[in-house]
Amino acid sequence: MENRQKKISINALIFFCLSLALCGFLINARILSITKIENLIMEQVIFEKSIQINEVISKLLYKTQSLSAIVIQGNGNNDHIMNSFDRIAPLLVDDPVIRNVLIAPDGIVAKVYPLETNENVIGLNFFSEGLGNREAVLAMEIGDLVMGGPFHTVQGDKAIVGRLPVYVDTETRKHKFWGIVSVTIKFPQVLEKLDFGMLNNHGFTYELWRISPDTNEREVIAGSPIKPAKSRFIEMPVRILNAEWHLKVSPDRMWYNYTENIVVLITAVFISFLVLFVMQHNHRLKKIRSDLELVAISDPLTGIFNRRHFMNIARLGIEKSRRHNEICNIIMLDIDRFKNINDTYGHTIGDKVLIEVTLRIKADIRPYDLFGRYGGEEFIIFISGTNNEKVYEITERLRLSLCSRKYEYGNVSLDASASFGIAHIADYDLEKAIEHADEALYTAKKEGRNRIVLYGGNPAV
Ligand code: GH3
Ligand code: MG
Ligand code: MG
Repeated sequence: MENRQKKISINALIFFCLSLALCGFLINARILSITKIENLIMEQVIFEKSIQINEVISKLLYKTQSLSAIVIQGNGNNDHIMNSFDRIAPLLVDDPVIRNVLIAPDGIVAKVYPLETNENVIGLNFFSEGLGNREAVLAMEIGDLVMGGPFHTVQGDKAIVGRLPVYVDTETRKHKFWGIVSVTIKFPQVLEKLDFGMLNNHGFTYELWRISPDTNEREVIAGSPIKPAKSRFIEMPVRILNAEWHLKVSPDRMWYNYTENIVVLITAVFISFLVLFVMQHNHRLKKIRSDLELVAISDPLTGIFNRRHFMNIARLGIEKSRRHNEICNIIMLDIDRFKNINDTYGHTIGDKVLIEVTLRIKADIRPYDLFGRYGGEEFIIFISGTNNEKVYEITERLRLSLCSRKYEYGNVSLDASASFGIAHIADYDLEKAIEHADEALYTAKKEGRNRIVLYGGNPAV
């Protein structure tokens, strides 16, 4: 019985699983709503940032237009142009992220501002092989401003450049190619203007990448120091003049990185275990109650009804029989010379005999006949809906079943029998019928035992 009590009840398990499933559902709903909000924020952020990248870089690159104006106003007169450059270039370099501005008649750098730290640019031929020169050729081909980079400059740092071809009208030829004007922007310093740090503060990471024109492979040109935690991301192309970059934004945390989620999860598991505990406790209490009920109504040795319970349900049985006008009988039986059995073989064997007598009787009566231990080695049976002759027959069968087979326990083998008294329940009076059956039983004992006496006289058999 103890073992059974320790088992977890199916109901408790079902409620535990249901509670877990419900909590799982709630957490999932929470994660979904967080994901939705994150996606909305990412969409907004990526949209804003891609516009800002374009704005900030384009604005700087378009400084080349002012350089172009110097050339066009100088009408190709290089002395005039150089003078104007000396005057205007300091005004153009108004932002610390601008590394330099320069002019290159025929593609060969003649002037750079500031000269300091940019000396080695002077004399650079944009139409020879070299870093950033591809863009000069492209600019000439398309006749418009072209962005190049980011790449490593001759100074060893990283930069992006804007190259603009300039054309002038000369006496001999209209729209003659004069040379290249260019602006160099420090990279990635230029991105500091875009406040990407704010993304990290809001739980996102970013990556700016492009297809490298040199290797034709994906090249990350800038990004958050933290790696994204999720494969979930939103990406948008950022077009700056001729170049196409891509901005990718991802959340930097998984659902379990949110303290709230962990708290909800732990609470959910705790509640589920609490449900399991309460249900299991309840189940155990029910089991104890039903065990107690069983103890209250049954005889501990044989398991059949005790006298008190037998009387209670026999009364109910009599009421039912009265309504249906049924005949009812009481059979009382007492084991013969049981004291001898106890004395000869011991109390334990005596108990075993009592149990076996119970089993033999149970096997021979119908399941709905009431059977109880009246006291000591005395038993009582209530039979309804069976006429008196039939009851006598049944009792005879019981008598035979008790005395015809030996009682065997290991090397102990003994005979036992019982005497029977039967009484018809006249007027449906249980107590009186028991008195009569007891009287009949007493007669049976007196007449020699192992026999049946029917109160009021045995039928002719
Ligand atoms: P009779 O044929 O006249 O009934 O003789 P008897 O010896 O059976 O009758 P008696 O009333 O003298 O003895 C009954 C015995 O049954 C006495 C008692 O110790 C024994 N007894 C009662 N209850 C139990 C029980 O639960 N277990 C065992 N082993 N013996 C019991
Ligand atoms: Mg006896
Ligand atoms: Mg007795």
